[in-house]
Amino acid sequence: MTALADRTSGDLATELADVRQLARGFFEKEVAPHREEFAAAGRPSREVYRTAGSLGLLGMSVPEQYGGGGGDFRHEAVLFEEQVRSGDSAMQLGVHSGIVPHYILAYASEEKKQQWLPKLCSGEWIGAIAMTEPGTGSDLQGITTRAVRDGDDYVVTGGKTFISNGAHCDLIIIAAKTDPSAGARGLSLLVAEVSDDTDGFHRGRVLHKIGQKGQDTAELTFDGLRIPATNLLGGGSGAGRNDQESQEGRGFAQLMQQLPQERLICGIAAAAMIDAAVAQTVEYTKSRSAFGKTLFDLQNTKFELAECATIGRVVRTFVDDAMAQHISGTLDVTTAAMVKYWTTDRQFEVVDRCLQLFGGYGYMEEYPIARMFVDGRIARIYAGANEVMKDLISRSL
Ligand SMILES: Cc1cc2nc3c(=O)[nH]c(=O)nc-3n(C[C@H](O)[C@H](O)[C@H](O)COP(=O)(O)OP(=O)(O)OC[C@H]3O[C@@H](n4cnc5c(N)ncnc54)[C@H](O)[C@@H]3O)c2cc1C
Repeated sequence: MTALADRTSGDLATELADVRQLARGFFEKEVAPHREEFAAAGRPSREVYRTAGSLGLLGMSVPEQYGGGGGDFRHEAVLFEEQVRSGDSAMQLGVHSGIVPHYILAYASEEKKQQWLPKLCSGEWIGAIAMTEPGTGSDLQGITTRAVRDGDDYVVTGGKTFISNGAHCDLIIIAAKTDPSAGARGLSLLVAEVSDDTDGFHRGRVLHKIGQKGQDTAELTFDGLRIPATNLLGGGSGAGRNDQESQEGRGFAQLMQQLPQERLICGIAAAAMIDAAVAQTVEYTKSRSAFGKTLFDLQNTKFELAECATIGRVVRTFVDDAMAQHISGTLDVTTAAMVKYWTTDRQFEVVDRCLQLFGGYGYMEEYPIARMFVDGRIARIYAGANEVMKDLISRSL
């Protein structure tokens, strides 16, 4: 495995290596020992977010003036790589740190940035983004949650499902229709500050998933939830404009601008999981005897792992290239869709092939390869199903 720090140079490489060491220690000491406790509870503790915040691991690419680390997306990527390496799937750091703060940075007013970002970066608050509804997921134009202007507020009514961090979240970016007759231009993003006793807000059950058992994926209901009109994410240009009055209907464009980063996170996680799967399978097959030699000595095992390692190298190269584009501000929707679908498909393939080499042990939950199989399966579905990615790509052809 070639760590991100090894693929950069100079001061940045040193910085990323330090972040990696810090993140590795965090997951090993603060998160991994609680894996079964979080899985049984169906959610991680709030404390692990606060600890991550106190270590400076949240919002690493958020400017320091808003309580962030002042780095760039490569710093965040190291955190995501280390989380996958550690085998943790309870914290939803991609959403909390890699997605939610970036919508606020790009589209919220200065006042709201000052109000929200420090709390997310410290881990005092946990963030969520609620797009999917029981009746619509891939087809975001089909969203039926309504936000109706009433004086200085919007009144939000509707239901969301599959929302990561749904049981814990204190801040939610809600995708809602402000004008149901306007198609894609009728969609807006509103930021709600919520707690368990917020009027018009109800957390549903934490959903029982086949993997990511320690992650609180939940249903949310809005039943007349009042959100100040100033919480509308107003600007569509990424310039953080504050002219909310005239900026309803920007939600779809904002999603299109931000989704490439979300899809790149999937690619980063896929590359890290492939590396982890291959490394663990090499170690296991070299330690298990069969037919008078080790499993690794069987030609099939060597060929399988040689192919998986090669896939890992190609995935890594593709993701690094996309990362370089993202850092320079040129990662386009098509390339991000290619990265998302192709790397997560390869992740699924490699983990499955590696699991096979573990024999029956690969089917046992206490083996990390088994957990990778179930935890990673969702990567081909969320952040836009891979079929939707191919549809997006085809539009560029
Ligand atoms: C663990 C987990 C966490 C999640 N976290 C969040 C979250 O934090 N916030 C949030 O808003 N959502 C979240 N989701 C929802 C996720 O993004 C959706 O499940 C996903 O977008 C697919 O939507 P859907 O489930 O409604 O499937 P559907 O839209 O019903 O699609 C079902 C299948 O149909 C096929 N399909 C759909 N559209 C097309 C097309 N155009 N062309 C070809 N085939 C197509 C695909 O195979 C797709 O998988 C999460 C889901 C899970 C399971």
